[in-house]
This record gives sequence, structure tokens and C-alpha cells, in this order.
Amino acid sequence: MKNTPQSRGITRRGLIGGTIAGSAAAALASNAGAAGIVGAAAVSPGAARHELPKLPWADDALQPYITANTLSFHYGKHHAAYVSKLNASLEGSDAKDMSLKELIVSAAKNEAHKKFFNNAAQAWNHAFYWNSMRPGGGGEPSGKMAEKIAASFGDYSKFKAQFAAAAGGQFGSGWAWLVAGADGKLAIEATANADTPIAHGRKPLVTCDVWEHAYYLDFQNRRPDYVAAFLDHLLNWDFAEKNLG
Ligand code: FE
Repeated sequence: MKNTPQSRGITRRGLIGGTIAGSAAAALASNAGAAGIVGAAAVSPGAARHELPKLPWADDALQPYITANTLSFHYGKHHAAYVSKLNASLEGSDAKDMSLKELIVSAAKNEAHKKFFNNAAQAWNHAFYWNSMRPGGGGEPSGKMAEKIAASFGDYSKFKAQFAAAAGGQFGSGWAWLVAGADGKLAIEATANADTPIAHGRKPLVTCDVWEHAYYLDFQNRRPDYVAAFLDHLLNWDFAEKNLG
């Protein structure tokens, strides 16, 4: 069978989610539960059932910056594969009932769970990334986030330059993050491959995926243009503020 999103049970309807608030909680709490969209038919009773969360917006909502074509691969293939591979690898494991977050934290320090790290972290990171963007987002934040950005970086332009440098300078595949430190100050960090701040006890507010699969169809090799589009048109400051707690 041709390996299309439809053939795997991921319909266009499945790509269209509800509100950001509702789906963010569902995405980040992704855990055992009802059979997921991905591989539902192949999951045996008692197996891990991490779900592919719905996107928080229609699959063409971020155009022209991130197209439905990119999402059909990035969400429909890459993110879906991390979830289905994770579920397959957890079959029969003592980690199958852990939440995604518990599994990531455990896999980062427990040798027996290390093999789960990449797919678990990528499943979590992607759910977080979708919610880090919204149509009509980006630009300068207001309210609490504006105060935090000013207190932590001096002003918005310095934050923007630092985030763009981290995202553009990450060698190879990885992620750029805005995180909140224990001292209440915000910081920017880049992680390689699947690595994620939650594995190290840090609190992420938003992330930008800088793996080539995130931007190559829309921007080819122009990662700085993709990062600029993320900062100017997509970044979801409401999600960042919510994650501040
Ligand atoms: Fe990705």
C-alpha cells in the first residue's frame, strides 16, 4: 500500500485540531489512554499507547511560512513515526505506563531506558513545537512576556538576535528554546538532535525545530529565513506565558 497519511489512518480531518489551549494540555499530557491515530489497529491490549496529538490549527493555517505540504511530512510522517516507533519499542517494557515526560526524564539518566530517549523526546518536542506557533503570531510580546523579555535580555531586539543566532548556529539537527530558569530569568538554549530541556530539569516556554525537515520544502537551505518567519509571524507568546506558570 502506498504510504500516505490517508493509508496510515491520518486523514486531513485528523490534521485539524481544536483550540490551542485544549490541545496543548492534551499534547503535553500525551500518555496511555485511548488508542491513538497512529498504529491503533496494531496496538495490542496492554501496550503503550502514546498518541499523535492533533495539530492546534488547520494544516494550512501557517501558510505561507509553513505550508500544508511541509506539515504533511513533518507532522504526518516524522512526528507520527516518532510516536509509532516509541509505542512499538515500549511493547513489553516496564516503561510502557510512564507518561512521555516521565519516560524522557528516566531515559536521560537510566541506562535501561536510554533506548527510548530519541523517539520519546522527539514525540514530546514536536507536540511542544506545534503549540509554540500560531497563525498571526510572532513579533513583540505584550504584558507579562514583554516584561520578562526586557528584564532577561535588555529588550526585544536583543532577545530576537540571540534566539536567531542560537537557532541558526545549531550545527546539524536540533532545537532552539526559550527557557525559564529557577531564578525567574529567561534564557535561550539550543539542543542537538532529540535533546530537550525537560530532560535536564529546565522549563521550556517555546521552541523552534531546526531540523531540515522543518523548513527544507518551504525555505530549502535558508534556515535563517525560516527562523525569522518563526520569530516575526508564528511564535505563540500566549503559549510561552502559559508555560511560565
Ligand atoms: Fe521536526
